[in-house]
Amino acid sequence: MQLKVTNSPFTEGQVELLNKLLPTLTDAQIQWLSGYMTFYRAGTASAESAVALQEPETAAAASALPAEAVAVAPAVPREATVLFGSQTGNSQRLAGKLAGKLKEQGFEVTLSAMNAFKTNGLKKAPYLFIVASTHGEGDPPDNALTFYEFLFGKRAPKLDGMKFSVLALGDTSYEFFCKTGQDFDNRLAELGAERIVDRIDCDVDFDGPSSKWLANVIDAVTAAPAAGAAASGAAAAASAGATATLTESEYSRSNPFKAEVLTTINLNGRGSDRETRHLEISLEGSGLTYEPGDCVGIYPENDPALVDAIIAEMKWDGSENVVSGKDGEEGQLRNALLRQLEITVLTRPLLEKAAAFTENGKLAELVQAENKDAFKAYANGRDLLDLLQDFGPWKLTGADLASILRKLPPRLYSIASSNKANPEEVHVTIRKVEYEVHGRKRGGVCSVQVSERLEAGDSLPIFIQNNPNFKLPANPETPVIMIGPGTGVAPFRAFLEEREELGSDGKTWLFYGDRHFVTDFLYQTDWQRMLKDGVLTKLDVAFSRDSEEKVYVQHRMLERAAELHTWLQEGAHVYVCGDEKHMAHDVHAALLTIVEQQGGMSAEAAAAYVSELQANGRYQRDVY
Ligand code: NAP
Repeated sequence: MQLKVTNSPFTEGQVELLNKLLPTLTDAQIQWLSGYMTFYRAGTASAESAVALQEPETAAAASALPAEAVAVAPAVPREATVLFGSQTGNSQRLAGKLAGKLKEQGFEVTLSAMNAFKTNGLKKAPYLFIVASTHGEGDPPDNALTFYEFLFGKRAPKLDGMKFSVLALGDTSYEFFCKTGQDFDNRLAELGAERIVDRIDCDVDFDGPSSKWLANVIDAVTAAPAAGAAASGAAAAASAGATATLTESEYSRSNPFKAEVLTTINLNGRGSDRETRHLEISLEGSGLTYEPGDCVGIYPENDPALVDAIIAEMKWDGSENVVSGKDGEEGQLRNALLRQLEITVLTRPLLEKAAAFTENGKLAELVQAENKDAFKAYANGRDLLDLLQDFGPWKLTGADLASILRKLPPRLYSIASSNKANPEEVHVTIRKVEYEVHGRKRGGVCSVQVSERLEAGDSLPIFIQNNPNFKLPANPETPVIMIGPGTGVAPFRAFLEEREELGSDGKTWLFYGDRHFVTDFLYQTDWQRMLKDGVLTKLDVAFSRDSEEKVYVQHRMLERAAELHTWLQEGAHVYVCGDEKHMAHDVHAALLTIVEQQGGMSAEAAAAYVSELQANGRYQRDVY
């Protein structure tokens, strides 16, 4: 039904005009107009006449704002800078969320990866919000490194007058939990900035604490007197240093999709001492899509044998009701231990809480600050069953246990397929992790489940984790060099399938390594076909245990130094995926050597060249 202006304070002529105009307006135009009329009424129409004269895109941006952001123009305008340091995309996603909320409050927002942010603008930023994760031994993520070095360097400016807050992401099972976020937080205060909201350090289950931080920040900025230069509600806009392509689906990390496993194949040949599963998973009906370089998150199930051993150790029966899982659901203890709670990792917060449920004073002693090394030695390689066996007698019920355990976090795997080549499917490569330590056989929760207990037809709760920091060059003609030993090769199957699907002519070079040629050559037939079809230009392999001397991918890189350097000079992008601790470090060193020797540079100049590659997105790593 079309509403008409009838009974109104307008003249007949005005009514006619309105009745002609109103039915032709889109929702966005109506919203824009309602904001404009408020300015008009407030007598600011002439000052804001730019609103009426804006380019169509800008007007559309303004119309996308909630009505109150346009209507209630802040008396003193606001600007906020939101920076993220993100390896897997979580910090980036949360930073984007904060930017959105600030925009809703009428802020002009600059959203950027730290390395992409022009540091000469830092001093002038009235509000700075940082979301940063921590990696390895307390290291900043790759896309935070240069900003981190700048802030801790001699050229860091005084930041008096700036208001800031930091959200830190990390994992309590690592010694340097949330160190990068803590470093930023301390340093900004040291430089004179004012902390308007306390830092929150998030463990792997970051949904609750990060939402709290976002809410605290919004409360603080709406309460605080505004700082900064002129901006109107209508001009609020965000610029992102590296914008994420967010998946449009109702399914997400907090609402995973139950996906059917279509195929599970062991990629290792008979006689291999490894087992690597290639899973093909259906996305049908989920609306989930992905890009090469993205990851799949899988919520695994704990080993039923370990769960039953824990229940037996405590002489429980497993059917008692406990509160656990997302949003404090109630369910049976055994089910919670199987699907919702982490039982294979011992963290310091867990041991501290557990100490309250035993009279065995040794546990309280172990978590004392001065016994850091003893704690580390104990927690390393042990699980919940060890803890329960080693520190009884316990005064612990199943409900107590459920209340102190961390939620079972999802496992992320690099996607091994192109969505364009495989609509409604996603492929992953999962190597079984198993070992014996402290007198018991142990293994990776997800990889063992996938290898031992998962069949085609079963389902897995999954989500897509976008990774904007590991992406093919926008130009399909740009050469790419891919270095991925072991399962680190997975995303390069996705890269090459994508290039094949796009029919791109850009040169591609894969460095792959594993233990034995005969049994461990993952996706061998795929690479051979791609070589034949020209999708893969060059392949260099290093099988480490087929010869007396170990041969690794970086040795092959050094053997091909001249050609690799030529590719770099031609603008090639370099990608590294796989082990962070050793391989990524050694490959980085090889790259530096190649640039130094082939480019005839000093070590410092070579380091600057490689840093520049990294800052320009021409050297990207997905390593852990
Ligand atoms: P792996 O068996 O540990 O290693 C594959 C090959 O790399 C083997 O031939 C191994 O040789 C060799 N290697 C060992 N040390 C090396 C070094 N310093 N430099 C170069 N090569 C070296 O492979 P995997 O079991 O598949 O595990 C790969 C690692 O990558 C795991 O840590 C996994 O978690 C990680 N990963 C990460 C991602 C990601 O970040 N997205 C994706 C997939 C896998 P030897 O064993 O003979 O020494």
